[in-house]
Amino acid sequence: MHKPALPSTFDLPARDYVRVVMMETSHSGNIGAVARAMKNMGLGNLCLVNPRAFPDETSYARAAGASDVLDRARVVSSLDEAIEDCVLVMGTSARGRKVPWPVMSPTDAARQVGDYHGKGEVAVVFGRENNGLSNEELQRCHVHIHIPTNPDYSSLNVAMAVQVMCYEIRMEYLRGLENSDSNPQLKAINSPEDPGWDVPPATVSELEGFFSHLEDTLAGIDFHRRDNPRQLMTRLRRLYQRARPDQMEVNILRGILTAVQKSASDPSAGVSSKKQDQTDV
Ligand code: SAH
Repeated sequence: MHKPALPSTFDLPARDYVRVVMMETSHSGNIGAVARAMKNMGLGNLCLVNPRAFPDETSYARAAGASDVLDRARVVSSLDEAIEDCVLVMGTSARGRKVPWPVMSPTDAARQVGDYHGKGEVAVVFGRENNGLSNEELQRCHVHIHIPTNPDYSSLNVAMAVQVMCYEIRMEYLRGLENSDSNPQLKAINSPEDPGWDVPPATVSELEGFFSHLEDTLAGIDFHRRDNPRQLMTRLRRLYQRARPDQMEVNILRGILTAVQKSASDPSAGVSSKKQDQTDV
């Protein structure tokens, strides 16, 4: 059942936890079109990683009445900077990759975005017009979103891909308002994004700290060969990101790594020093 446009006060500022990230956009008109698409759907948090030309006249012309979204857009110089404080990162791609990642439909992805409301910042990342997101960039994401286009002609214009995602996020938001009376006790508590979980989800920078600690440790015990890495770290990254660890879980894992490093460098240190390193759980 379709309802007409609602008064503007209806949109909560809390929607700002959803961040649209655009990687190295070459056509500034697309940035304007993205701002418009976002504002139409009640979103306003735009982050641009190394745009070729921004701000400029073309972007503002294409933004129409959404110039405020461009005014407050943040320009950064790396994907790391764009997502480091996020607790959920979703990358969008038209193409499957060699090491497949968990893939979600736009509707399921929007549901996850809704689940993270109040838990921290969420980023939805969009690629370059000419060659999308690299494998490495996609591996920084917890999940991939694929818009189920015609397999023989699968690539949408980037602003149209943003439009589809922002629409789904809005629909999820509106469904959430409708169901806000439903009994919270009936909701599952499965992972840190769910209300009732005891510890906040780990941020990207906390997880990245863990991944480099893990790599150093595995190299230190000769399990990981930096001169012949194969896909080891990629697969471990996929495993841990899939688990969506919370902050304490990351601390525990890092405590274990520190103990392994200590015992590898001084096997005689033994049990007593390990005890001291135990994370307070
Ligand atoms: N030629 C590029 C596609 C770039 S399209 C390639 O082969 O990867 C620009 C961006 O729009 C993509 O990086 C992605 O963020 C988004 N996009 C386009 N089509 C999409 C689809 N079917 N599913 C998900 N994202 C899509």
